Amino acid sequence: MTKFTDPKFNDRDLVPLRVFKRDGTELPFETPFRNLAEVATVLRTHRDAGDADSFVGSLIKAIGRIAGPSNKQAAWAHKVAVDLITPRQQRQLDVELLPVLQMLERAAGTQKRLPRIVLTRDDVTVQLTMAGDKSRQPGTVNVMTPGAYGENTWFGRIDLDGRFNPSRSCTPLVEQLLRDLAADPAKVAGQHGVATGSCCFCRRDLSDKRSRSVGYGPDCAVKYGLPWGDTSAADAADKAAREAL
Ligand SMILES: [Zn+2]
Repeated sequence: MTKFTDPKFNDRDLVPLRVFKRDGTELPFETPFRNLAEVATVLRTHRDAGDADSFVGSLIKAIGRIAGPSNKQAAWAHKVAVDLITPRQQRQLDVELLPVLQMLERAAGTQKRLPRIVLTRDDVTVQLTMAGDKSRQPGTVNVMTPGAYGENTWFGRIDLDGRFNPSRSCTPLVEQLLRDLAADPAKVAGQHGVATGSCCFCRRDLSDKRSRSVGYGPDCAVKYGLPWGDTSAADAADKAAREAL
């Protein structure tokens, strides 16, 4: 068993190392740690550090041995320590959902209730709810399935800058629905209303003929800043009717 030699930095900040998973997959990474004492200090912050039988516990134990860890153990110790100090990169969608956020913000200014949009596409119902002042991230928008907390599925959050941070449960269908909503809110809201017979904003049944054809009600159109049908055509008809008198 060859003894592990500390990485040679030669004025570099990071030195490449690699470990192999059980199935043989190579995982290359770079370490900023100059020696195993530094590595052990970081490993001790791991939640399993105190458990000698855990993987991390066994690595700490091996580093503490007089003989030192094997090459394999030392490389893994570096890898785990590097993972511990690396902030988890959040996956972000390359799509601006700012129009969706702004639409909810506009509605929030007109009503006491927190604005909410419920959209159904295929067999998935997605609820967008603005987080209130008492929440941890007020003004952001939670995207999830309807239902009680703990029983629903959380798809992600729209940040205050309009970027969407999807959770692991988010699906391509949900992502596409959000993209479509941002691109043309009136169209997506209208499609939902025409298909389900209820308004995606207030969830009331669309009672009159015109609301049913538009897909949402006139009050919600004003609140969310959307057109309500073809107003220019309505104006033209109105004008024609007056001229005919
Ligand atoms: Zn409505």
